Amino acid sequence: MQNKIIKINNVLVEHFGIPPRNKKLPNPVEMLIGTILSQNTNDRNSYQAYKNLKEKYKSWDEILTARRSSIESVIKVAGLGKQKSEAIKSFVQELHEKKGKLSLNYLNRMDESSAIEELTKYKGVGVKTASCVLLFALDRNVCPVDTHVHRTVNRIGITKQNTPDKTFFALNEDFPSKIAHPFHTNLIRLGREVCKPKKPSCSICPLLKICDFKDKNLEKTAPSKQNAFMLLDNIS
Ligand code: SF4
Repeated sequence: MQNKIIKINNVLVEHFGIPPRNKKLPNPVEMLIGTILSQNTNDRNSYQAYKNLKEKYKSWDEILTARRSSIESVIKVAGLGKQKSEAIKSFVQELHEKKGKLSLNYLNRMDESSAIEELTKYKGVGVKTASCVLLFALDRNVCPVDTHVHRTVNRIGITKQNTPDKTFFALNEDFPSKIAHPFHTNLIRLGREVCKPKKPSCSICPLLKICDFKDKNLEKTAPSKQNAFMLLDNIS
């Protein structure tokens, strides 16, 4: 699997380039909150909700005493306000009770699987959110699996799994070093612009020759340029 991942990463980097990323690693608590906000919405809306939250609460400690309904109204642009405000509120409360402060720096002393296990013990924090904290804030070589990564790696034939979490564990069992960020980010771009859920544009796909997907759509299609803004590379 390692060789296939390296080969696909090389093709994607040649096609899309090396994706830009934050110059400075963001705070892991902020990354976790940003990832909760990003669920089931686009990056622009979740970024706006994240900015609203930072404007309203000058420090994350203020969220400890804020009413959940106030948090919900501040983040409503990202949708699922009730669910997301509950997850944010309960995460900061649990973290504060556990560590006496709002810091996830203790994860730096853990290996990747222990850190994922630890983060997913917090209510409302799933494997995808935990793995985003590891990749984007702790600079670990872990490839998070969202809906786009799940669909594309299973179509390509890197994994054969039926849920994003199962795909995550299969993909990361022996992931090649140093390429998790470009691989993850370029696959999201491929999934948004080319390998779309209903009708993939296989005729213009850079992976056409190495993809195992049986039901390729070879109709001529124009490239669909999407906004390349990625929330998790802009958390600060
Ligand atoms: S060839 Fe088609 S199915 Fe395979 S990755 Fe490209 S767009 Fe997706």
